Amino acid sequence: LVRSVNAIKSFGDTRVLDGIDLEVHPGEVVCLLGPSGSGKTTFLRLINQMETLTGGRIWVGDELVGIVERKGRLHRRTDADIARQRARIGMVFQRFNLFPHMTALDNVAEAPVQVKRIPRARARESALELLAMVGLAERADFYPSQLSGGQQQRVAIARALAMEPELMLFDEPTSALDPELVGEVLEVMRTLAAEGMTMIVVTHEIGFARQVADRVVFMDGGVVVEEGTPDQVLRHPRHERTRAFLDRVR
Ligand code: ATP
Repeated sequence: LVRSVNAIKSFGDTRVLDGIDLEVHPGEVVCLLGPSGSGKTTFLRLINQMETLTGGRIWVGDELVGIVERKGRLHRRTDADIARQRARIGMVFQRFNLFPHMTALDNVAEAPVQVKRIPRARARESALELLAMVGLAERADFYPSQLSGGQQQRVAIARALAMEPELMLFDEPTSALDPELVGEVLEVMRTLAAEGMTMIVVTHEIGFARQVADRVVFMDGGVVVEEGTPDQVLRHPRHERTRAFLDRVR
């Protein structure tokens, strides 16, 4: 579903990603680990077109991200086309970014109404189902400020799912949470994974990666240092850099 070939990203003279090759198949859960500054967030932002590639190619499904090839020449996609591509992807951030003046229910229903032109009553019905799935049906009419961080993050997941994405990107979704609230968010992600959602998850939660990931990718300094099954990478890392990182976060 996602194929990255030699993805390069520079900010000015600073090369943040130095040729990322990665494939994610439909239904796969891939956990991205790596020290702060290794480029994990930037990679997710490239997939979601919040940044533009400096070099290389990324495909989502059979479409190139950001550019389109016509008669052997590459053209930038139009804004409308980029918006369409983005709608295939749900993203959940470290900070929950809910609309503060809207209830949980309206946060979830808003994009389907605005972007997909779904009638509000129907969008609210689906939103309620999604809130039930993340265990928050009885909080539907609460505002973000009335919810705990863990609850807000679950609303953010429901909001991303409301657009019926083919792919979900998670950027350290639990790292801003109090420790006792981490479990409830990971539980929702575990359920999603079990339902077959394709997911790329940047996380420092090694336990989650071990239990849920089909594949673990360790990045450092803008490159993939190693990847493999959770058992290979987390229990039997081949590279010293991976070992040192795991020692620090465990
Ligand atoms: P973290 O776990 O801290 O989020 P990360 O692995 O996700 O780290 P990135 O956020 O992708 O790393 O950042 C990689 C490098 O790119 C960092 O050194 C960062 O300072 C730099 N960087 C990111 N965005 C920009 C930007 N817009 N302009 C300049 N430099 C940037």
